Amino acid sequence: SENQKLDFIREIIANDLSTGKHETIITRFPPEPNGYLHLGHAKSICLNFGIAQEHEGAKCHLRFDDTNPEKEETEYVESIKDDVRWLGFDWGDDLYFASNYFEFLYECAVDLIKKGLAYVDEESPEEIKLHRGNVQTPGTPSRFRDRTPEENLTQFAKMRAGDFKEGEAVLRAKISLTSSNMNMRDPIMYRIMHAAHHNTGNDWCIYPMYDFAHPLEDALEHITHSLCTLEFENHRPLYDWFIQNCPVPSQPRQIEFARLSLTYTIMSKRKLLQLVKDGHVSGWDDPRMPTISGIRRRGYPAEAVRHFCKRIGITKYNGTTDVALLEHDIRNHLNATAPRRMAVLDPLKVIIENFQEEPADELEVANHPQDETAGNRMVRFSEEIFIERDDFQEVPEKKYFRLAPEKYVRLRGGPIIQCIGYEKNDAGEVLLVRAKLLPDTTGKDSPEGVVCKAAIHWVDAKSGIDAEVRLYDRLFTVEDPDAAEGGFVSVLNPESSKTVQAKLEASLLLDLPGFSCQFERMGYFVTDSKDHIPGEKAVFNRTVALRDSWGK
Ligand code: ATP
Ligand code: MG
Ligand code: MG
Repeated sequence: SENQKLDFIREIIANDLSTGKHETIITRFPPEPNGYLHLGHAKSICLNFGIAQEHEGAKCHLRFDDTNPEKEETEYVESIKDDVRWLGFDWGDDLYFASNYFEFLYECAVDLIKKGLAYVDEESPEEIKLHRGNVQTPGTPSRFRDRTPEENLTQFAKMRAGDFKEGEAVLRAKISLTSSNMNMRDPIMYRIMHAAHHNTGNDWCIYPMYDFAHPLEDALEHITHSLCTLEFENHRPLYDWFIQNCPVPSQPRQIEFARLSLTYTIMSKRKLLQLVKDGHVSGWDDPRMPTISGIRRRGYPAEAVRHFCKRIGITKYNGTTDVALLEHDIRNHLNATAPRRMAVLDPLKVIIENFQEEPADELEVANHPQDETAGNRMVRFSEEIFIERDDFQEVPEKKYFRLAPEKYVRLRGGPIIQCIGYEKNDAGEVLLVRAKLLPDTTGKDSPEGVVCKAAIHWVDAKSGIDAEVRLYDRLFTVEDPDAAEGGFVSVLNPESSKTVQAKLEASLLLDLPGFSCQFERMGYFVTDSKDHIPGEKAVFNRTVALRDSWGK
């Protein structure tokens, strides 16, 4: 709403507009294409693209920060675009690749060399590390620190030309040997990597470091507010140093905010890649993954994810958000929007002995009990139905109001039935329940003398279809998998995926991939985007249970 308090970043932006510091706002979302996006990225996407949507004429650039040739792949570029679009955002014409700025970045480096602000260091990586000192100890100058600009220009040209092997030379900014901010102690700007790049091929064998490249990329694109996570707070002086000392066309401002961390979740592309590579999950889009493609396949609605990102807000304080909060938003959204269907996940057959006494072979069932506009549907009804195994007890425990010998229960949308017998196998497992229905009880109160306190879902055995239903749970058993002594792999939840053969009402075979519904009393489910084939094979994923049952 209008009077909702702005977060500190939106406040800064509103102020910059009102004072005339900026006439228009340009933000950017700058993923490195070295993996699939996750929920943490969703927070940043909602922030950056959200701000652009909120201001007339404002824009948000999608920029691939592809300055490291070793870990980047075009597959990731395409998945990132899909994910941003799916979340509901659009970069219009503003798609950029940092690698297209390599020549500009090189010129900025040459400019710094000419100003005496950068030098080629040919000390070994070990020496460089040693000579930087630490927070208590000042650094000692490299023996190459006082090279002349001319000599540096020559050596830097040689670096570019491929005359050095990896690790033999770097370009460093000449800033400080004593700063208590270690990022300012002559940081490395370029390193040698004899690696082909997805965009520039073999044009380059020197690649810029993030701290050097990022501010210049922002400035080149006239980004007004460069929003990043808190780890970069003590990189800001360096960000500003490069902006001040390089010939850039604008002065972007870096602002840091707290990253999203969720309980029971890891949120690092590197670690998620490990889960994929080591086969702990079926891929980046495994429905248990916190990736955007994973949650999409899991059936999380984009709108609910955006709502969650808005609700957690933007602050300066790192903390961990309870994943139950996200699940709550997903559930709330689906509760309002998902049509109701019936599915039996653990089928037990019930034979209705007096079926001929009920005239209906179809029953009319509401698609959404709280939303009349969702309408009704007809479901087939016959003398053989399936109910959940759980909905029958041979010897009912206290306060059990479902089916049991002699007891009554209502079939959702249909009549009341009474259990009149059951059969077991030698192992003592109930195979079949016999029942009779009470004629003329559909849509009516139970008759005098009949105690019927519960309604259960059911599926017609003749017309019902078989389906593979995947019951997903949290991927990790502990709140903070990163803190596990044996590493996050040691706390993977062995129960995070269970597949059951279920019986579903017939219409569900025809629904398209990505169709979400509530299986009454069971939870929210979505047809799998890869394996569900309409008309042929029904495959459903559990999005979220009806209630938070974790730990119970
Ligand atoms: P990871 O550590 O998972 O690889 P990253 O920060 O290295 O993430 P980038 O592709 O560099 O991934 O990130 C793109 C943008 O998304 C950056 O601006 C980054 O700050 C932001 N981002 C990444 N993770 C989170 C998070 N957990 N919460 C909020 N923003 C995030
Ligand atoms: Mg990264
Ligand atoms: Mg990272």
